[in-house]
Amino acid sequence: MSIAHNIHTVTQTLAGTGCRLIAVTKTKPLEMLLEAYGAGCKLFGENRVQEMVEKYEQLPKDIEWHLIGHLQTNKVKYMAPFVTLVHSVDSLKLLQEIDRQAARHGRVIECLLQIYIAREESKFGLSFDEARELLAAPETAALANVRIVGLMGMATFTDDREQIRAEFRSLKAFFESLQQSPLPANAEMRELSMGMSGDYDLAVAEGSTLIRVGSSIFGSRQ
Ligand SMILES: *Cc1c(COP(=O)(O)O)cnc(C)c1O
Repeated sequence: MSIAHNIHTVTQTLAGTGCRLIAVTKTKPLEMLLEAYGAGCKLFGENRVQEMVEKYEQLPKDIEWHLIGHLQTNKVKYMAPFVTLVHSVDSLKLLQEIDRQAARHGRVIECLLQIYIAREESKFGLSFDEARELLAAPETAALANVRIVGLMGMATFTDDREQIRAEFRSLKAFFESLQQSPLPANAEMRELSMGMSGDYDLAVAEGSTLIRVGSSIFGSRQ
C-alpha cells in the first residue's frame, strides 16, 4: 500500500479525537518523507539528532520536527535552532542544556517528560515520583527557555493488549493528576504522547494527543 494510503488509514482513527499523528521517519529516505508531506503530513519524528538535522536542512520549512529518541546533552545544540518538541526529557541536566541552547537562539523549546511505564528493563524514562520531583524543583522553575507541555511514554513490547492498555491508562491517570497539581509557570499538561504502530489504537482510546507511528506508514525498518 502507498504511504498516502497508510497515512489515511491511521488518521481515520483520529477523527474527532483531537489527537495528532507524528510520522516517525527514522532510517527512511527523503523521497519517502516527501511522499508523506505530499499526503498532508507535516509532523515528523526522528530519534537521532544528526539524522533529523540532515533531513531538516533538505526539506520544506513548514515541517514540525519532533525528537522522540533518547537524547544526549552534547547533541542538543545541533537541533536547538529548529526542533518543535522534545519528547524524551528524562533529567534536570538535559532540561537545563535544552534551556541553555534555546536561549542562544532566542527560543523557548517545548518538551515532554518521558515517563517509564513499561515492565521492561531497557526503556528510558522517569518514574512518577521522579517526574513530580523534577516538576517541583526550583531549578526547573528557573528555566526561561524551555516549557514542559506534557508527558511521553512507551508501553511494554508485548502481544498482551490488556497490559498495554493498562500502561497507557496509568500514564493518562498520572497526566490528569498533574493537571490538578500546582505546576511551575513554565509547565502545563497539554500533550500526552503515547502510541506507536502496534498500539496506537489503544493509545487513542486511552486519551493520547500525539501518536508516533513509523512502520505502519513507511514499512518495517532494518
Ligand atoms: C521508532 C519509534 C516509534 C515508532 O515505532 P513504530 O513501531 O515503527 O511505529 C515511536 N516512538 C519512538 C520513541 C520510537 O523510537
